[in-house]
Amino acid sequence: MPRPLQAVIHTQALRHNLGRLRQSAPQTRVWAVVKANAYGHGLAQVFDGLRGADGFALLDLNEAQTLRDLGWRGPVLLLEGVFEQRDLELCSRLDLWHVVHHEAQIDMLSKHKTQVPQRVFLKMNSGMNRLGFTPQAFRSAWVRLNALPQVDEISLMTHFARADDAHGVEDQLSVFAQHSNDFPGERSLANSAAVLRHGAREDVTADWVRTGIAMYGSSPDHGLHDAAHWDLRPAMSLRSRLVGMQPLKAGDSVGYGGTFTATQDMTVGIVACGYADGYPRHAPTGSPVLVNGVRTRTLGRVSMDMLCVDLSGLPSVVIGDEVTLWGCASSGELLCIDEVAAAAGTVGYELMCALAARVAVTAD
Ligand SMILES: *Cc1c(COP(=O)(O)O)cnc(C)c1O
Repeated sequence: MPRPLQAVIHTQALRHNLGRLRQSAPQTRVWAVVKANAYGHGLAQVFDGLRGADGFALLDLNEAQTLRDLGWRGPVLLLEGVFEQRDLELCSRLDLWHVVHHEAQIDMLSKHKTQVPQRVFLKMNSGMNRLGFTPQAFRSAWVRLNALPQVDEISLMTHFARADDAHGVEDQLSVFAQHSNDFPGERSLANSAAVLRHGAREDVTADWVRTGIAMYGSSPDHGLHDAAHWDLRPAMSLRSRLVGMQPLKAGDSVGYGGTFTATQDMTVGIVACGYADGYPRHAPTGSPVLVNGVRTRTLGRVSMDMLCVDLSGLPSVVIGDEVTLWGCASSGELLCIDEVAAAAGTVGYELMCALAARVAVTAD
């Protein structure tokens, strides 16, 4: 029998979450963002649940190839564009749309030999200061692109830095509008947080939204609203089993460094899941976990292949019983990945993306 740890990808939850995002932005088309191997879920495993999207957006050319191999014939967008000249050949071969965010990418396009012009998304840096042309350089970039025979339609895009917090999108929206209003073409601005929090605004949802995290059932603004608030369902359940149990006496400690010491007699359960599986090592004692669908807590340090859980108040538990690290238990109880992330001082994004290659992933 293989090690009893597995990630189950819930196809119905992906469909539900995609539908939920469409409800928030009914007039617009949806890029399902599947970068980083579909946020750790696996491209092949999410494909069925997300094939109702209008296109797929990602960064990696190999992943674009995988999507085509899976049979997707619709739009695919490279969110960081091409990295070197020959990537454009693959764009032509696989019919990929790509972001243009700096001058050298325009140079590459101008040298690209193709009969079929390419769809591009010209990116403006409207305030995040990561990728994109400055508002002042945007016009000349557009004019240059527009003059190239290698370029078909030019769409316009930007990315919000603070759609998930109270600061919001107003300042970036106005920079974008001010410097792009007189250009033709489709627009794409919103990530998950912008769709859920500002989806009523047409200037936010525009022609295409680019949603990632919410499709996977994690709330983009967890400190303010949880996944239940947004009616999102976990797309991944990380489940394992108890592989050991130990009785502790008051004064006994658990695990490396002995960072948890029992104050009374109790039983700890040993779970087949550790940081080599992607469970965060910095999750402290008290991080939430489900045993047979009942909420309890982790104890002591997470080690490479195992972690420990408190079985106090769970008298009928035996070795082999189910442990849910996040997502939903077989019996249906929920433990949102955002709660585990918060306990570990991070966000759901990081936990799902960190799922290790050694963990078996299956879709249901
Ligand atoms: C990752 C990414 C998104 C998706 O963001 P979420 O917060 O996961 O919805 C959208 N646009 C760009 C450019 C991205 O890199």
